[in-house]
Amino acid sequence: MVKENHVINIKILPILRCPVCKTGSLKVEHSLIKCQNTGCQNVFPIIDGIPILLNEKNSLFSTTDFISHKATTFSFNHSFWMSLAKKIIPSMIDNFQVKKNMDRFIKLVLNKNEHPRALVIGGSILGEGMDKLVNTKDIELIETDVSFGERTALICDAHDLPFMDNSVDGIILQAVLEHVIDPNQCVSEAYRVLKEGGIIYSETPFIQQVHMGKYDFTRYTELGHRRLFRKFDEIDRGAVGGPGMALAWSYRYFLLSFFENKYFRNIIKVFANLTSFYLKYIDRYLIKKRGVFDAASGYYFMGKKVNKIIDDRIIIESYKGLV
Ligand SMILES: [Zn+2]
Repeated sequence: MVKENHVINIKILPILRCPVCKTGSLKVEHSLIKCQNTGCQNVFPIIDGIPILLNEKNSLFSTTDFISHKATTFSFNHSFWMSLAKKIIPSMIDNFQVKKNMDRFIKLVLNKNEHPRALVIGGSILGEGMDKLVNTKDIELIETDVSFGERTALICDAHDLPFMDNSVDGIILQAVLEHVIDPNQCVSEAYRVLKEGGIIYSETPFIQQVHMGKYDFTRYTELGHRRLFRKFDEIDRGAVGGPGMALAWSYRYFLLSFFENKYFRNIIKVFANLTSFYLKYIDRYLIKKRGVFDAASGYYFMGKKVNKIIDDRIIIESYKGLV
């Protein structure tokens, strides 16, 4: 299902850098990409037109996973029944904040530059509410992930971004940081790659149980998520999915805890969705209340890269909850 004849976007080649030494520019030679730094000279493959730019030493993934087309974190080849079930069973997820946030992100990024460039980390499939960004022709979008997918243009690991310093105007990390080994390192890489004043947008879960098996490591409180971006001035922050959605997740995983058999678990998933999907609608009321800062299903942060570190005392003073 990988895009056939997908060619490397030549426009991004000048801003690509070797993910291993971080300084070497990259040159395409036949079906390989070579680091031009004489002290490094790492070589990276291009598989089905998609560059595989990994620093294997720091990554959970290896180049051979991609050469053999092994499913890494995410498989989008669902069975017919699973695809049908996804279509007809109401979802317990409703990220109704993302549209407003994306409108703002697009506006801010377009204000920065006539032809801005934005990087999507973890963008193998179209993320929730990302349609408008993808259709904004004036923004050059670079969609990357550690898995092949319908939108993956480049395989790279957020711990070692293969881009030069100060080279992009915006970065999206939607539901990514809970799945990385070292979120601080990934945010530090995003900071390096963003231009001064560049815009970052991140969404991460708080009350959501394990949802990508072994690739699920971290949860953030609202304030913890803000602190992760302490080298960014706050533009906006808040909840994506409120306490209703958090309750639906907990209810589903409570029920699932009784069963180990895959067949029963699938029945429970359907049952849980049918009996709790309405909770997300209550969030449209609760989202305006301060309690969401203590009890939401997930949070977002939008910020601007600045040349300073926000003091932890200032961050703590910005706590918006009630507990
Ligand atoms: Zn290199």
